[in-house]
Amino acid sequence: MDESSFGGESSEPPSVGPEHDDPPGSSGRLSVLTIAEGTATKAQTYPPSKLSVLNLVRNAAPSAIASRQKKSNGQAVTDRVTATQNQSTRNGVRLDAAHHAGTQPRQENARTVQFRERFYPDATDDDWDDWRWQSRHRIKTLEQFEKILDLSTEERDVLSDGGTLLPTAVTPYYMSLLDPENPLQALRKTVVPTTREFVRTAGEADDPLGEDGHSPVPGLVHRYPDRVLLLPLDFCSTYCRYCTRSRVVGHGEIQPNVERLEAIFHYLEEATQVRDVLISGGDPLALSDEKLDWIIGRLRAIPHIEFIRIGTKMPAVLPQRITPELCTMLRKYHPIWMSVHYLHPEECTVESKQACERLVDAGIPLGSQTVLLKGVNDEVEIMKELVHKLLLMRVRPYYLYQCDPISGSSHFRTPVSKGLEIIQGLRGFTTGYAVPTYVIDAPGGGGKIPLQPDSLVGRDGDDLLLRNFEGKTFRYPDPIPT
Ligand code: SF4
Repeated sequence: MDESSFGGESSEPPSVGPEHDDPPGSSGRLSVLTIAEGTATKAQTYPPSKLSVLNLVRNAAPSAIASRQKKSNGQAVTDRVTATQNQSTRNGVRLDAAHHAGTQPRQENARTVQFRERFYPDATDDDWDDWRWQSRHRIKTLEQFEKILDLSTEERDVLSDGGTLLPTAVTPYYMSLLDPENPLQALRKTVVPTTREFVRTAGEADDPLGEDGHSPVPGLVHRYPDRVLLLPLDFCSTYCRYCTRSRVVGHGEIQPNVERLEAIFHYLEEATQVRDVLISGGDPLALSDEKLDWIIGRLRAIPHIEFIRIGTKMPAVLPQRITPELCTMLRKYHPIWMSVHYLHPEECTVESKQACERLVDAGIPLGSQTVLLKGVNDEVEIMKELVHKLLLMRVRPYYLYQCDPISGSSHFRTPVSKGLEIIQGLRGFTTGYAVPTYVIDAPGGGGKIPLQPDSLVGRDGDDLLLRNFEGKTFRYPDPIPT
């Protein structure tokens, strides 16, 4: 257990910490890895101060940093890395043919390479590529943040206060994608809290979707007749500041214990109208393979459950979690579908792409759910770049969500007209597969309501008048039924 994080997060990843709730037949494997394996010792590899951080960079081996280049957002990134004995580079990506992931060569994006050299010089590739190591080394405290980022007053104040509804934690990998100097960088805004989270505006609520009112068993939401949402845990490796479930996520109240999960399975055995289960959370992939195997296996044993989906942000925030072993386990239970969560093109790194490829190669279709966020992705060009990159990662852009009116989220919400403008800027201007469905999840439990720019202009006799993506009007013969 870990009491040191902000906002009351009470647990290390359930798959890492000592577990007293092993599923039947797990042979004790779940408790083999304990926090004691390395929590404190590796954390001490942080440079003690910014001065020494700079010294480390200055003293870095020539192979570490070869050149820097300005990106469009003003960030400086390494774009080329000199080859070392066992590594080569291609397009600014570090390659390692001995990558343990099997058939894929080890690849690392240039920004992460530079970050590691600077802040984790003692972490080996094996450490860095180990999702449990990443989980144990998440950045959670003011002291940790300020060693890496130049904090704004708004960020520093909230980290000092520690009073937000949602805890704060960022994996070292995802932290490597943040701009240390620019608090307005898109990715940084989504994971580093600010005092704006304290601002409550009209219409906001802790549970805007009314999920709590549709929960027959703790951790199960049954809002639609034929499908349910199963929350196995409330832990996430990285906490998104706009999270719809910030009222529960990271609070340590939804634990993956056998007793609670068995109550859910018993409910589902009786609910014969349920054919579709979405396992989400918290992030279900924060569970160990063994526990996830047990949960999915229990669901698959219920005859009327046909369809199992997993909702996760791991490929974006901790792609190291998508191991060959995880994929091998998941493919036992097909059909399994996965909703992955991407916000911005800068999340589409080579590591993330490889993670998605591993999942797709295991036969798991991937659909992306993207939340529309002010100052993050609320421009047509940013969204277009994102959906294009997703397609190249073999991810189908699925939903674009209007940001839910959760408490303290007004700084993230755009007008609905902005979402319509983005869809208008995509439809017809790019591949149809790249255009997500823009939806509002109706407050109070009304479900997802799709929104589209108006294309039906009206009627002229037996003709429908339709507007195309260029704004031109066309007729379609559609006689009124007699
Ligand atoms: S990963 Fe999902 S559940 Fe976790 S904080 Fe982000 S949005 Fe919320």
